[in-house]
Amino acid sequence: MTIFAKIIAREIPADIVYETDSVLAFRDIMPQAPVHVLVIPKQPVTSLATASDPALMGELMLACAEVARREGLEAGGYRVVTNIGRDGGQSVFHLHFHVLGGRPLTWPPG
Ligand code: 5GP
Repeated sequence: MTIFAKIIAREIPADIVYETDSVLAFRDIMPQAPVHVLVIPKQPVTSLATASDPALMGELMLACAEVARREGLEAGGYRVVTNIGRDGGQSVFHLHFHVLGGRPLTWPPG
């Protein structure tokens, strides 16, 4: 069981900012920007590499935009990113999209 599965099950606390039947969004415990929210599916999906449900993926993308809107990021802009596997820098093996904003973000990432 991943740490995110425990958050979904309410076994460990999280600062939840948005929720639907299939999606949960909560603040990252180690924020890399003034706003840093993780948007995840409630069902177990390891990463984008193994995702297979187009409707769920669409929901997740739209949830990222909704979170950004609610967090006041729309005017200034923001970034949505997902890390996949070892070289992608993934550390929690439950699909998640980082929504980052509230400061100018550099590109490319390191
Ligand atoms: P990854 O490196 O897999 O793309 O991102 C995992 C993210 O999960 C990291 O940004 C990390 O700070 C965050 N994270 C890890 N454990 C927890 C936790 O228990 N609670 C919350 N809210 N975030 C976590």
